[in-house]
Amino acid sequence: MDITFFSTKKYDRASFNAAIAQYPHINLRYLDCRLDATTAALATGADAVCAFVNDKLDAECIGQLAAVGIRLVLLRCAGFNQVDLAAASAHNLVVARVPAYAPEGVAEHAVGLILALNRKLCKAHARVRENNFSLENLQGFNLHGCTVGVVGTGKIGAAFARIMLGFGCNVLAHDPTPDSALTALGVNYVPLDALCRASRIVSLHCPLTPATRYLIDDAALSAMPAGVMLINTSRGGLVDTRAVIKHLKTGHLGYLGLDVYEEEAGLFFEDESDHILQDDVFARLQTFPNVLITGHQAFLTQEALANIAETSLANAESERQGIDCGNRVSAS
Ligand code: NAD
Repeated sequence: MDITFFSTKKYDRASFNAAIAQYPHINLRYLDCRLDATTAALATGADAVCAFVNDKLDAECIGQLAAVGIRLVLLRCAGFNQVDLAAASAHNLVVARVPAYAPEGVAEHAVGLILALNRKLCKAHARVRENNFSLENLQGFNLHGCTVGVVGTGKIGAAFARIMLGFGCNVLAHDPTPDSALTALGVNYVPLDALCRASRIVSLHCPLTPATRYLIDDAALSAMPAGVMLINTSRGGLVDTRAVIKHLKTGHLGYLGLDVYEEEAGLFFEDESDHILQDDVFARLQTFPNVLITGHQAFLTQEALANIAETSLANAESERQGIDCGNRVSAS
């Protein structure tokens, strides 16, 4: 089986090259460019493509992939909102993902954003490096005893909730499928509106679907208490960025920690330091002192990269042998 990789980075090559030895019947070819309808033909001659979060597998791209003989799409990530699954099924393309590669790592990054925002670590670091040891405006608040709302308690949200319970927080959660193990630990499931009203920190861990797009909009933000902290390490489209800017400008939104952004495709994962930023909304976000943005790096741990490579190749090997790999995703 020949697999063409898109959006490949040095760390992808390293982890897949380390894992490939166990798979003598699989060949890998790495491309740097993003996968979309304009680049799909570069997979000509391969049996499968391996794609990441900002590749754009819309109906047109899927059609092009099918036309050049691709039968398998391997997603080296958990989310699959970037794939038109109905089009994949119409073209008999199997789509497989890596459902859980290191949920704790993503949860820990969300906690890192909370701690850095709350205790103003970036500002403090910059000051100390300039021998400015003033503590003015570096005041934070105790996490112990504060109410944290977790939206989506699947693998990552559950890991996040457990960490926050460890901090001594009161944890509220919202999920159409509550997790009884979390309830037993003291997590209280409430409707989204009640979670927004009661939480000092709201952290998003649900997938991006048509139903969850702009789950956090002007109304949801208005319902949150003044000074609330919003954390999004899931998918950018869960949050209406323009509404967020409105609430940052009034001061109602006290802190914002983002690892994802709704227009991140084409921006994140690249070194754009020599270019003029064209996205005015993103540029405005960067002006607020209480906003901390990382470029979709929550997944990036040694353990996650190794698991992603191992699971993706195991998925490919099963499908090569005509066996359902167990990690397929399809339109429901
Ligand atoms: P998961 O499938 O284990 O859990 C998702 C949970 O969200 C489920 O329990 C589901 O019932 C719940 N959910 C669905 N709709 C909801 C709604 N409307 N409101 C509240 N909850 C809802 O997924 P996971 O592995 O925990 O990953 C969660 C998301 O994190 C992924 O979809 C992905 O987008 C994102 N992610 C981001 C990174 C990163 O590097 N930033 C890495 C991995 C995953």
